[in-house]
Amino acid sequence: MSSAATLIDVPLGGPTLPQERRLVTAIPGPRSQELLDRKAAAVAAGVGHTAPVHAVAAGGGVVVDADGNSLIDLGSGIAVTTIGNAHPKVVAAVQEQVAQFTHTCFMIAPYDSYVSVAEALNRITPGDHAKKSALFNSGAEAVENAVKIARKHTGKPAVVAFDHGYHGRTNLTMALTAKSMPYKHGFGPFASEVYRAPLSYPFRDGLSGPEAAEKAISVIDKQVGADNLAAVVIEPIQGEGGFIVPADGFLPAIVEWCRANEVVFIADEIQTGFARTGEMFASEVFGIVPDLITTAKGIAGGLPLAAVTGRAEIMDAAHAGGLGGTYGGNPIACAAALAAIDVFENDGMVKRAREIGAILQGRLGALQAADPRVGDVRGHGAMVAAEFVDPATGEPDAGLTAAVAKASIAQGVIVLTCGTYGNVIRFLPPLSIGDDLLHEGLDVVAAALAAA
Ligand SMILES: *Cc1c(COP(=O)(O)O)cnc(C)c1O
Repeated sequence: MSSAATLIDVPLGGPTLPQERRLVTAIPGPRSQELLDRKAAAVAAGVGHTAPVHAVAAGGGVVVDADGNSLIDLGSGIAVTTIGNAHPKVVAAVQEQVAQFTHTCFMIAPYDSYVSVAEALNRITPGDHAKKSALFNSGAEAVENAVKIARKHTGKPAVVAFDHGYHGRTNLTMALTAKSMPYKHGFGPFASEVYRAPLSYPFRDGLSGPEAAEKAISVIDKQVGADNLAAVVIEPIQGEGGFIVPADGFLPAIVEWCRANEVVFIADEIQTGFARTGEMFASEVFGIVPDLITTAKGIAGGLPLAAVTGRAEIMDAAHAGGLGGTYGGNPIACAAALAAIDVFENDGMVKRAREIGAILQGRLGALQAADPRVGDVRGHGAMVAAEFVDPATGEPDAGLTAAVAKASIAQGVIVLTCGTYGNVIRFLPPLSIGDDLLHEGLDVVAAALAAA
């Protein structure tokens, strides 16, 4: 490793980037540091960053920085570049569309790609009932709109979200989100008519799925009441909350209760969707069919796009003009989404997520067997996490978690933390990563844990 800045030609991103971990400076190197200094001076302090690097190209399983370092990417920009950064099919679709037209506003002059994305989502989301979709810009916006639609459909005001849930940073989605720091702290007052129910968290609650569901339903029944409740919003596997996989039977019981009580069941699959969990959608892992499903993140290979998809009769509840937005379903994002969905369906992404999942579970399971500080390893497909604890008490160990993540990044492996208690490292590698690189990334994390 040399500390001198190395001048590099900025490479093109995508899968042809050399697939290697390469450290030519300390992290951050001088060029990254220069950008971080400018960021500190120019960008609002509330916008944080995980890896102190100045990214210039990415693809396959790596992110290259301005100093010429090549970092192994185990985060996919938070489960966004699932098919790989700068995927050639996405690049081609975007280049073609951007030269045709960049915007008409779908509410002013509609275009094919938006309708095609809606058709694709209606086809690939769980359930064979008639479906419709509406497109938006961000995950939070999709969740907001799912709630609007559910309220209009049911004529009821209340919404239930769950412990450890994360649904975004807008006012309504902050209210739906469980964790105060950093998402809500000081940003209230929050939207009203939002209530919280207990989640199934097998590692910490020791309850079976049906037992945890009974507890949640009792809270909902007693504290809200089905007659007041428009929707239940839940991530099938929680993302920011710590990759919490509910016990078998929990989600089906909640769905069944919603059906029986005319409550719209909204699955927030913004992090879990699009092959990530080894199924096209995580709802399939649990055998549930949501009424509405929100998607974003992985949908468009990195371009900003989000959607609500669901039962046609619910989706049609909102009056004409009641849904939309200036940029929602932007044609460039839609072109990217059509290319990405083609890759998800036809290039073996679901299978690849399962292969990556087997590697992650095997390696992290071995760590857990050897080190009592690894309290739990859980997840599905290429969405796997390790929860770190104090072996003596079982209490969450956020300090250890932060130290392991920081040391991994310093050694050229981008990992993300999560969890209500900040004691979870989550692995969300792009599905375009090679096995060798994935193993090398996990070697680095294991060494960081051993040294911590
Ligand atoms: C990221 C995320 C959101 C918010 O999406 P944004 O695009 O950041 O607004 C909502 N729900 C879940 C489950 C997420 O992971």
